[in-house]
Amino acid sequence: MSQCDVIIGGGGMVGLTLAIALAQGGLQVVVADPVPQAAALDAAFDGRVSALAFASVRMFDALGVWEHLAKDAQPIHDILVTDAKLNGEPSPFSLHFDAAEVGAASLGHIVENRHTRAGLFAVAATLPNLRLIAPAALADLKPEAQHIRATLSSGETIDAALAIAADGRESAMRDLMGLGTIAWSYPQWGIVATVAHEKPHDGVAYEHFLPSGPFAILPMTGNRSSLVWTEDEKLAPKMMQLDAEAFDAEIARRFGNHLGATEAAGPRWSYPLKFHLARAYVKPRFALAGDAAHGIHPIAGQGLNLGLKDAAALADVLLDAARLGLDIGALDTLRKYERWRRFDSLAMAAATDGLNRLFSNDIAPLRALRDVGMGIVDAIGPARRFFMRHAGGDIGKLPRLMRGEAA
Ligand SMILES: Cc1cc2nc3c(=O)[nH]c(=O)nc-3n(C[C@H](O)[C@H](O)[C@H](O)COP(=O)(O)OP(=O)(O)OC[C@H]3O[C@@H](n4cnc5c(N)ncnc54)[C@H](O)[C@@H]3O)c2cc1C
Repeated sequence: MSQCDVIIGGGGMVGLTLAIALAQGGLQVVVADPVPQAAALDAAFDGRVSALAFASVRMFDALGVWEHLAKDAQPIHDILVTDAKLNGEPSPFSLHFDAAEVGAASLGHIVENRHTRAGLFAVAATLPNLRLIAPAALADLKPEAQHIRATLSSGETIDAALAIAADGRESAMRDLMGLGTIAWSYPQWGIVATVAHEKPHDGVAYEHFLPSGPFAILPMTGNRSSLVWTEDEKLAPKMMQLDAEAFDAEIARRFGNHLGATEAAGPRWSYPLKFHLARAYVKPRFALAGDAAHGIHPIAGQGLNLGLKDAAALADVLLDAARLGLDIGALDTLRKYERWRRFDSLAMAAATDGLNRLFSNDIAPLRALRDVGMGIVDAIGPARRFFMRHAGGDIGKLPRLMRGEAA
């Protein structure tokens, strides 16, 4: 039997970031994940990229992770949002966000998830008070008055002051601890693929709102972009089965020809899209973070950014408590985190859900309404700047790490 301050179930991007923040703050941390490190870094494991908001980039910088990612990160200089029909001309109303308008060098960065994981593993390996156990799942949790006992799939038991579930959207630990969710499925899948194109993208990200859902083109390093293509759940499986030539043709119909000829470069992935929000984030000696707590539509590319903010807020609350000699697993301490993060996640979840409902259709009055709305926002500088600051994560109370300070 071993002991630590915090045991984290899930060494994904949120779990590892949190572990590094807590270990750098002086706590003894254990992370368990069933996926071996080498497998988590394999290009075939996760083909997604993430649009990291500037608050998330500041956090990675403060933790020493950014120096491992910077060379593989593509800055976003502009975002162009259009309302379009398949094969049709985009509506004359569009939204244009330009980094220069908010005095920033970029509106965020696109980083491949495998590079983020590699950076996190590299920093984790330098921290003697962080033990990463992989492969091993967290199999059981038993809260007691003074500690919580975690049992791993290897049979090892570990006593900690606090257990955190960062084990993703299907969180077994959330279910085990009886924290229910509000959840529904979208009739959509997210298809993800990397596309090579003839011309440079100049750091411009595009979001075309097509009738079946948003089609996002996110600039990657080189002449490559990552597609996050939201497709109707009935059509998406057929798209996934197309041969390479037919798949490229479907991409070209949606992508347009502004970057010259396009071709899928590498495998394609698909994710059924779901919404969920945990009814509570904490119990005595237990907390949820990242997708274990919330899963939102990828329309605004904010899921990971929300999870990273959970990690930064938890680091603030737990390290403040530890420095005052308070019990980090006590419900009073954990409620501060829940009050801080649950409303913010709910607001983002509701906004992304509403946007998806407003845009993923071809209903004429709704199309007119959203086009006028986009035209109005585009014409009003403060409104545009508000959206840019929001997408950059600079709204609301920012935890220390997201202000670029040490944990
Ligand atoms: C198509 C798509 C595009 C997206 N694009 C963006 C974007 O551009 N920007 C953005 O911010 N977000 C984006 N997201 C959301 C983002 O990918 C997720 O929010 C993020 O990956 C969540 O990270 P996590 O660490 O909480 O969970 P996960 O990445 O799911 O990690 C969970 C970890 O827990 C481990 N685990 C599972 N069970 C156990 C157990 N019993 N014990 C221990 N460990 C366990 C797993 O092996 C895994 O390593 C997108 C999502 C989708 C579907």
